[in-house]
Amino acid sequence: MNSEAIKTIKGRLKNKCRIVLVPHKNPDGDAIGACLGLYHFLQELGHEVSPVSPNDFPGFLKWMPGSAAFEIFDRNKDRAREIIEKADLVFTLDFNSLDRSGSMVTALQACESTFVMIDHHQSPGTYAQITFSDTKMSSTCEMVYHFIQALGEGDRIDAKIASCLYTGILTDTGSFKYAATTPTTMRVAAELMERGAPHTQIHRDIFDTNRPERLQLLGCALQNLVILKPYRTAYITLTQEELDRHDFHKGDTEGFVNYGLSLRDVVLAAIFIENRDEGIIKISLRSQGAFSVNEMARTHFEGGGHINAAGGRSTETLEATVRRFESILPEYEKQLSV
Ligand code: 5GP
Ligand code: MN
Repeated sequence: MNSEAIKTIKGRLKNKCRIVLVPHKNPDGDAIGACLGLYHFLQELGHEVSPVSPNDFPGFLKWMPGSAAFEIFDRNKDRAREIIEKADLVFTLDFNSLDRSGSMVTALQACESTFVMIDHHQSPGTYAQITFSDTKMSSTCEMVYHFIQALGEGDRIDAKIASCLYTGILTDTGSFKYAATTPTTMRVAAELMERGAPHTQIHRDIFDTNRPERLQLLGCALQNLVILKPYRTAYITLTQEELDRHDFHKGDTEGFVNYGLSLRDVVLAAIFIENRDEGIIKISLRSQGAFSVNEMARTHFEGGGHINAAGGRSTETLEATVRRFESILPEYEKQLSV
């Protein structure tokens, strides 16, 4: 952690502040975990802390301590704007560019308070006065742990903070299996367990709270799996009609894309999900090894992310999007074919 930046924040935190914590749009376990870990920590230090999310988050994260404190921007824009306007400090967590905050972007752009970015995505933007960016980190939650340690406040990590931070590390590392999982990540997770994170319960709360409809939606997704053997690529599609038929809830498709990547020899996996309300196809990309889906998402799908996990969107139809995806694969032939 950059010691100058730590010194600056330490100075700011000596006085009581109004602090806003912001995850990215469609927040995942890492974004929500980082917000809520910091929420409890900064409250402990005596600050007035408000987590504000651009939109709602999946039910499988709602067991997290403090999750009811979230203001949802899309649900109550006036109240959320007022909270943002009054902030002394705004922490943006788990994203690298302000437009990842969705419809909140204009409120954040208009906000004159000091911005602090803590993030592990590639190509960090320059909107924050204080930036902690480390693309080698497993997760933003791991960075928040190091941030608290760098402030010399590690002893304040209690079971609530530990549970939130453990959750983000767990979800962003695919349960400690992705390449970004380092020995330090494991040590941090161990420390969080020692500080009271109930690891078995957290795993169950995140992964084992399926509704039958979700499993049936997974069945439907797997039926739709297409394998492009010459490109070592697999993709899944889900239409709005298929989502409706299976009583889609936010978060239900989380992890589906990984089934493509679990196929022997597949190095690139994608899922294309129709979202009729937003008029877009949401795209998730995953890869194994050196193939950069971050580059693919940036170049072709208005998105970004990490080397092995990225996302983006398309405003074309589902069929046209898939056609375009198939048509760009020859560009990557050297990396994809054996
Ligand atoms: P997911 O596929 O799970 O939505 O996202 C995978 C990774 O890509 C996450 O780190 C996420 O932050 C990033 N990501 C997903 N969608 C987008 C997007 O539309 N734009 C950018 N820049 N990153 C995205
Ligand atoms: Mn993350």
